[in-house]
Amino acid sequence: MKILVINAGSSSLKYQLFDMEGEKVLAKGLCERIGIDGHLKHTPLVEGKNVFNEDISLPTHAEAIAAVIDKLTSPEYGVVSSMSEIHAVGHRVVHGGEFFSASVIITDEVMKAIEACNPLAPLHNPANITGINACKKVMGDKIPQVAVFDTAFHQTMPGKAFTYAIPKEFYEKDKIRRYGFHGTSHRYVATRAAAMLGRPIEELKLISCHMGNGSSICAIDGGKSVDTSMGFTPLVGLPMGTRCGDLDSGIIQYLMNKYGYTIDEMMNILNKKSGVLGVSGISSDFRDLDNAAAQGNKDAQLALDLFHYDVAKVIGSYAVAMNGVDAIIFTAGIGENSKETRAAICEYFTFFGCKINPEANSKRGEEIEISTSDSRIKLLVIPTNEELVIARDTQELVK
Ligand code: AMP
Repeated sequence: MKILVINAGSSSLKYQLFDMEGEKVLAKGLCERIGIDGHLKHTPLVEGKNVFNEDISLPTHAEAIAAVIDKLTSPEYGVVSSMSEIHAVGHRVVHGGEFFSASVIITDEVMKAIEACNPLAPLHNPANITGINACKKVMGDKIPQVAVFDTAFHQTMPGKAFTYAIPKEFYEKDKIRRYGFHGTSHRYVATRAAAMLGRPIEELKLISCHMGNGSSICAIDGGKSVDTSMGFTPLVGLPMGTRCGDLDSGIIQYLMNKYGYTIDEMMNILNKKSGVLGVSGISSDFRDLDNAAAQGNKDAQLALDLFHYDVAKVIGSYAVAMNGVDAIIFTAGIGENSKETRAAICEYFTFFGCKINPEANSKRGEEIEISTSDSRIKLLVIPTNEELVIARDTQELVK
């Protein structure tokens, strides 16, 4: 079965075509500048086919999907002979609100529920909907489409973890609560962790640290999310590349009054100019911060220290929330690649009997246990693969 996985943004569209026999990626690519001018990079991963990397006109997402199908089926760049070889499409959808606790086949009713979640993710859900509609338009109604939600995995959180201490009508009427994000990634690495440890997921207490441009931590007890650091929006929790993470909300009023910022200007500062970029004044990229700190830049060092400290604090609180922890998982750009970050975070847990193996920790890009054999808590590096989860869920639902 061949499955196309789509991640549609407001002006971009990422895709991967999977052959589920062997779970191989046949081709992947990225449409950019949709609605502006347009660029497509298409990379076939089978021998004898060429990469396509050119500016092409992409006025809407429908033209982008048509261009993707054209490349996937072309003799020079393609990996299938016709569109009918694509059995189903799996879409990443950011917000499923309280409607969806698992992936679903997209129907008219499902579309209405996704639309109802637009106010909860105004930058993401409308773009995801545009991607789904573009696929329907180009591929027709016969090819089933599936929605896989970033929020779904966290729907198992208990009320005490998802409730904010504000008047209850804001939850009852307006659905203000913690939703959490990166659920597809946390779910994938938790499943892999159980396989690596050779134990049923039902008996494991795991803490998954997804650390990339956006970062979140998830407490996973018996395979279910019981708490997570992102909240109603992906702005909170850890300090991130450019996002502030947890912040005293009184600061917003103070700065708006003092500088006359509008709420949009204030939110732009908290979303785009804060996090490790804001603290360091240098970069949102941890590689730049590592280099600057190594050359003695104190602000870069403070940004890194603050990040490590906050990650460690959340891990500590989740160990308490679950009354134990069997393994801590590191994933995403920073978690998978930065041995310095992993080592600095694990320093906080030596009192737990948590010991890192420096040699294993220096490896990159592979699933690996980085704790010593006598460490009381296992430490695992697991490269995430959200696209594969979307493809698997899609296969499962359309089978
Ligand atoms: P992601 O959002 O998962 O793609 O992660 C992207 C982030 O990973 C980048 O902004 C970097 O901060 C970080 N990153 C990637 N490679 C490294 C590395 N070798 N060392 C430190 N950070 C890295």
